Amino acid sequence: MEYRHYIANAHVAPDGGAFVDVIDPSTGEPFAAIARGNASDIDRAVAAAQAALGEAVDGPWARLSPVDRSNLLFDFAAAVLKHGDELAQLEARDTGKALKTARTDAAVLARYLRYYAGCVDKLHGETLPYTTGFTVLTVREPIGVTGHIIPWNYPMQIFGRSVGASLAAGNACVVKPAEDASLSILRLAEIAAETGLPSGALNVVTGLGGEAGAALSAHKGIRHISFTGSTVTGAQVARAVAERHCPAVLELGGKSPQLVFDDADLDEALPVILNAIIQNAGQTCSAGSRLLVQRGIYETVIERLSERFASLRAGPPAMDLDMGPLVNAKQQARVRAFVESAEAEGLRVAARGTIAVEASRGGFYHPAVLFRDVPPHSRLAQEEVFGPVLAAMPFDTEADAVKLANGTEYGLVAGVWTQDASRGLRLARKLQAGQVFINNYGAGGGVELPFGGVKASGHGREKGFEALLGFTSLKTVAIRHG
Ligand code: NAD
Repeated sequence: MEYRHYIANAHVAPDGGAFVDVIDPSTGEPFAAIARGNASDIDRAVAAAQAALGEAVDGPWARLSPVDRSNLLFDFAAAVLKHGDELAQLEARDTGKALKTARTDAAVLARYLRYYAGCVDKLHGETLPYTTGFTVLTVREPIGVTGHIIPWNYPMQIFGRSVGASLAAGNACVVKPAEDASLSILRLAEIAAETGLPSGALNVVTGLGGEAGAALSAHKGIRHISFTGSTVTGAQVARAVAERHCPAVLELGGKSPQLVFDDADLDEALPVILNAIIQNAGQTCSAGSRLLVQRGIYETVIERLSERFASLRAGPPAMDLDMGPLVNAKQQARVRAFVESAEAEGLRVAARGTIAVEASRGGFYHPAVLFRDVPPHSRLAQEEVFGPVLAAMPFDTEADAVKLANGTEYGLVAGVWTQDASRGLRLARKLQAGQVFINNYGAGGGVELPFGGVKASGHGREKGFEALLGFTSLKTVAIRHG
């Protein structure tokens, strides 16, 4: 099966005629191919998006009233729900994630689309008090053609929070999905067209990051870029867009800490802590990958978590076990290298999960691993593994915990477990992170909750109304009437 680009509501062959193999992570075998996009394909997609907006805001997409735009996005959300199982099957096959995770992702995508559909007719400017004889107002306008570079870990969800917000604000989109996870995004573009989205409002160009991705971030017609992925690639994208003063939202991952104090309710905390590192086999930007535990309860926590880690099993998506395989051979080699070098440095493994006997030997599986007593300056405590590997370490005082938590270059998310409400509030202010969760982690996804990083975790916010504002350009109109 060969998948082509989706431009102006049509399947389009790649200009260069080349395709890239799509590998099934649960077997290591190719099962399809996607178009290998180049700069000329990106040109075509940007031109289609510009035509949807029109030169004088008169294109078929730009002409729609807010309420019509809103209705279209509601219809798109309904169609996503209708095709939810098909989309989940596609994404699970493409990325290796457990089918239950992919089903949740399809449902969350629909929720994003509904949320932003509901925002469209509530997006407005203001009238500002000014000097006598003037009326001054602001209008929120679309930015233009927006570029979306999407990673392989949560393609549908990230499409929902970035493309959903951008379309709601009235922009036209060009999407470059990850080479390892393009199939659900291509299908979504078809579904959007079937729902009635005008030609050119949503275009998808597949291919390699260094080719299609680089061409998209360098394209003069792109007026805003939203990128989710690695810190290194994020810096490349930021440099490319800086050349033409194009704004960028960068969401770059983290090394997020969970702080467990000796008054925490462990029955509540431990299942959430476990899920936050094994969900999607640890390939989650906001994974809770560092566990900081107050010394008095450290051994109890390690013992209880070790029991759970030892019982964790990885297997093919259809088995719906605790985890699927990792996304590709590169990611498997990366996680292995982290674990092996930590062990070679003398770091202690407290527990290790297993790989189901039914799993193909060619699949990219890695068992879950719990490391204990991890030195705060070790690579394992500082760098993002992006796999099911949890680094635990003890702390003594609240001040130590804050220092440890803030002691990496990242700052995406933090979790605090304590029965002391004042301590929870204090820490919420002191932790360097875009989101802080007290006695929970992730708040069940939180479509409505602004999300993004500080420090090397990036800048700009996705999700919530905040993201929608980020996809608009604010114009001030001053009228002198005497
Ligand atoms: P990546 O950053 O290279 O890829 C993410 C997206 O960027 C993909 O769509 C890719 O095609 C595109 N891309 C790659 N090079 C590009 C370029 N020069 N210009 C424009 N776009 C480009 O990530 P990866 O290599 O697939 O994964 C490596 C590491 O990145 C992972 O181990 C993990 O640490 C991190 N990662 C983080 C997230 C996250 O959600 N924050 C997601 C995926 C990967």
